Amino acid sequence: MRLDKLLANLGYGSRKEMKKLLKSGAVIVGGTPAKEGKMQVDPFNDEVTVNGEKIVYREFIYVLLNKPQGVISATEDRQHETVIDLLPVELSVFEPFPVGRLDKDTEGLLLLTNDGHLSHQLLSPKKHVPKTYFAEIEGEVTPDDIVAFKRGVMLEDGYVTKPGDLVILKSGPVSHIELTIMEGKFHQVKRMFQSVGKEVTYLKRISMGSLELDPSLALGEFRELTQEELKSLR
Ligand code: URA
Repeated sequence: MRLDKLLANLGYGSRKEMKKLLKSGAVIVGGTPAKEGKMQVDPFNDEVTVNGEKIVYREFIYVLLNKPQGVISATEDRQHETVIDLLPVELSVFEPFPVGRLDKDTEGLLLLTNDGHLSHQLLSPKKHVPKTYFAEIEGEVTPDDIVAFKRGVMLEDGYVTKPGDLVILKSGPVSHIELTIMEGKFHQVKRMFQSVGKEVTYLKRISMGSLELDPSLALGEFRELTQEELKSLR
């Protein structure tokens, strides 16, 4: 790949700053100062140092975000802030994208990566990756709803959901629940509750496969996955 692209990916600044850096002789490739951004380098095998520091190239990044309400699960949008806008340039230069979508008003766990293979693995309907949501429901959630969700409910478009695992945490005029589903249809949790005559008033994803929302992350905060988290996801 081009040397300037490699340095940009690693967060070494704008094109202009990079040109200056290269011109100053601070970038050494295989022992020789490299002055041209268009020089081709092998990021995994060529030794590249910047100001004497050896750079470690990474192809993929994996970021766990606690998505706040009001931002959309997309990489670009003309009107709204996106989940990618929440990342610093050192991470956004890797061109991550969200693995699946959470609604604008849904909070919680969202994985951002540039690893298309892993994303596909996690989203493929064939893989049945469980996703667990905490929700506040207007209306009394009852054991009948547990049975209905276990059987599968018919959404307003005629689709019958696969079995979901509903746990009632608090039942009353306002109920609290956890729901685990293995699929990810558009607005699925909200539509499942609609099908039993109830409304989701707050929704947060708390896990996806082996990955759990990190309670130390405030809304809008993120961190990269640990090696263990990544290993268990694959
Ligand atoms: N189900 C929904 O209804 N919304 C989400 O954001 C995720 C699952």
